Amino acid sequence: MTASGLSFLLTNDDGSHAPGLVALARVLRELGEVTVVAPDREMSGIGHAITLHTPLRIRRNDEGFHIVDGTPTDCVNIGVLKILGTRPSFVVAGVNRGGNLGDDVTYSGTVAGAMEGALLDVPSVAVSLVSGHGAPPEERTTFEDAARAAAAVIRKLAGKPFPQRTLLNVNVPGKKPLKEAVVTRQGRRTYSGGIVEKTDPRGKTYFWIGGEPVWESEEGTDQVAVSLGHVSVTPLHLDLTDTRFLPDLTRLLGS
Ligand code: MN
Repeated sequence: MTASGLSFLLTNDDGSHAPGLVALARVLRELGEVTVVAPDREMSGIGHAITLHTPLRIRRNDEGFHIVDGTPTDCVNIGVLKILGTRPSFVVAGVNRGGNLGDDVTYSGTVAGAMEGALLDVPSVAVSLVSGHGAPPEERTTFEDAARAAAAVIRKLAGKPFPQRTLLNVNVPGKKPLKEAVVTRQGRRTYSGGIVEKTDPRGKTYFWIGGEPVWESEEGTDQVAVSLGHVSVTPLHLDLTDTRFLPDLTRLLGS
């Protein structure tokens, strides 16, 4: 326990060697006790998957990180329930290589790590660094910058009431200077590219999901905030019930 009394469980979906995780651990150690439990390999796009049918093994690396041959969700469960055996002040997932904005949050292993923390009743934060691709190298936000932006948000929330089953999705713009953090709502993305069809060297067809994302540029969304240079902080909730549709659906089903 450090003087602050704060404790952090860290995970990510880019794997235990990822520079974003190393930077986050270094920065949060300035605020409190840090325990890292991370997947042994790249898990981006794994979403909220949990391992139920194969055993999980834990090893330590030279930095003291606990490395699990599972998903970010596995790591948070093992971290809280086994390694710590008590709830930390925060679960923090990241810093992810690439943004997790709008509809993409449901694919994200980083966001899922924070979701699992929220399900375990721990205030939880996902942190992602949007690509600075195209900006000159000296203007690109580093993982250290992104970790510090997240730490500034966390410091303001420490010890304050945090709603149950809620997590914060923090996205940091890829280009500096960073503007102040703003609270946003989840935006919407549509892929323009759809399914790309190609032929492999043996003449067989294969497919690639993707293309350049197209965003609905509505004010107040995570994507718009980031595009304007702000650190975006979106509260997400795990109750996915569409309460707006409840009355109509009830009427339609005659129940
Ligand atoms: Mn990732």
